[in-house]
Amino acid sequence: MAYDTSFLGDLLDDDQFSVGDSHRDGHAADWGTPDDEAVRPDAVVWPESTADVSAVLAAANERGVPVTPYAAGTSLEGNATPARGGISLDVTRMDAVLDVRPEDFQVDVEPGVMGTEVDDAVASEGLFFPPLPSSGDISTVGGMIANDASGMQTVKYGEVADWVLELEAVLADGSVITAGSRAVKTSSGYNLKEFLVGSEGTLAVVTRATLELAGRPEQVRGGRALFPSLDDATAAVADAVRSGVDVATIELVDATSATMANAYTGTDLPDAPTVFLKFHANHGVEEEVAFCRSVFESHDVERFDVVDEDAMDDLWQARRDLAFAVQSYDPDLTPLHPGDVTVPISAYPEMVQYVTDLADERDLLVPCFGHAGDGNLHFSVLVDETDPDHVARGERTQDDVVERAIELGGTATGEHGIGRGKREYLVAEHGAATVDAMRRVKHALDPEDTLNPGKVFPETVDGGRVGDDVVDE
Ligand SMILES: Cc1cc2nc3c(=O)[nH]c(=O)nc-3n(C[C@H](O)[C@H](O)[C@H](O)COP(=O)(O)OP(=O)(O)OC[C@H]3O[C@@H](n4cnc5c(N)ncnc54)[C@H](O)[C@@H]3O)c2cc1C
Repeated sequence: MAYDTSFLGDLLDDDQFSVGDSHRDGHAADWGTPDDEAVRPDAVVWPESTADVSAVLAAANERGVPVTPYAAGTSLEGNATPARGGISLDVTRMDAVLDVRPEDFQVDVEPGVMGTEVDDAVASEGLFFPPLPSSGDISTVGGMIANDASGMQTVKYGEVADWVLELEAVLADGSVITAGSRAVKTSSGYNLKEFLVGSEGTLAVVTRATLELAGRPEQVRGGRALFPSLDDATAAVADAVRSGVDVATIELVDATSATMANAYTGTDLPDAPTVFLKFHANHGVEEEVAFCRSVFESHDVERFDVVDEDAMDDLWQARRDLAFAVQSYDPDLTPLHPGDVTVPISAYPEMVQYVTDLADERDLLVPCFGHAGDGNLHFSVLVDETDPDHVARGERTQDDVVERAIELGGTATGEHGIGRGKREYLVAEHGAATVDAMRRVKHALDPEDTLNPGKVFPETVDGGRVGDDVVDE
């Protein structure tokens, strides 16, 4: 259905909204949305202030026009795709670093600031923003907060939620709230900030964030460890985390992924299960590396190279380029949607084994890699799109992997969010009563279902209005 957005002309300058085809096409999908699932919004708006966001939301809410926040569009589950049309609210013009307060380890930013720009702005103070996702250079702080992103350093520093102190946000009816506090701890009132982080633009639009920062470590080392088998590699990772080895990053790359990385980057890494590491410390980093080495030796590590920060880029190249390596590995095979499940660390070896066994059994190529220290597994099922049976087997495999992760006490998504792609697992993971409580939160803050409708919750009887009964529970 097409929505009348002519009211935008009364609220914004001419260069702040567009109903032109190219702008609408450019906001019809995010990275994870295939072309045939793209939905063109009726209009794109570029607010430049909190007041602009508030005015657009109040007017749209009154008229029943859906509004989907859009930032860099790097979401992988359709999170930023305007599933019901209406307005795509592009926050990328709100991209100022407002205030750096090194004495408090804090920075205030607008939501459209790119992740690595935060690091650039605070580097001269010896500070950094630790939970940046791998996409930190192509995605925004607002998108990271809305998806509760996390990254390679989460095993040591936690996820984005752990580094957000205070948020200014606009609710669906246009009212502006401040959630959280600049004090590092507070027990005052309901913790609305935690509701907003990870809500994927369905509860409010974030217009300003106060982030906490960390001091840059004095000592940094990079490592790469090769193992004779995947079992050894995953057991070594789980053991290192359980033993309290202080790693900043611990990433797994299975043999299939190593082969793909070699083909893409021209590296000559042995096609073996590989663990990439980073160590951060202010003192005693060599002791930590030695501790890690001893844990890995008890799991038959074949080779463990450790280098200084300067040489880390070369050592890590294969891991860095992996997402692109998987995509371009075989022109006859297309990666299905990238998988992102997380399980408790003790279940990680079993989870990875399950995926590789399924791949063998079903004759599929399924590279596995990811932020292993958090129990996070990324996997990509490659299919021959000309063969419907192959595609069906691939899709069944993706479902089976997510279901297995939930059975193992894990989650359907460690970092990419639910978006459109993972809605069917919400009830299996949380239970019907919990999902109903989530719906009631959504309904209380956004009774007209204005903000990013068609996301997070499973489809409902009339196509997804809040408050209706859930189908297929
Ligand atoms: C190559 C690649 C690597 C990736 N690696 C990682 C990774 O390591 N870890 C990880 O967690 N993710 C990763 N991602 C996923 C993605 O980059 C992150 O989720 C990122 O934080 C999304 O930010 P964005 O600016 O692109 O937001 P968008 O995709 O534009 O939007 C994300 C969601 O937030 C909402 N939104 C956007 N701005 C606001 C706002 N101001 N207020 C309220 N809601 C808002 C949107 O409606 C949408 O639901 C990766 C993606 C790619 C393509």
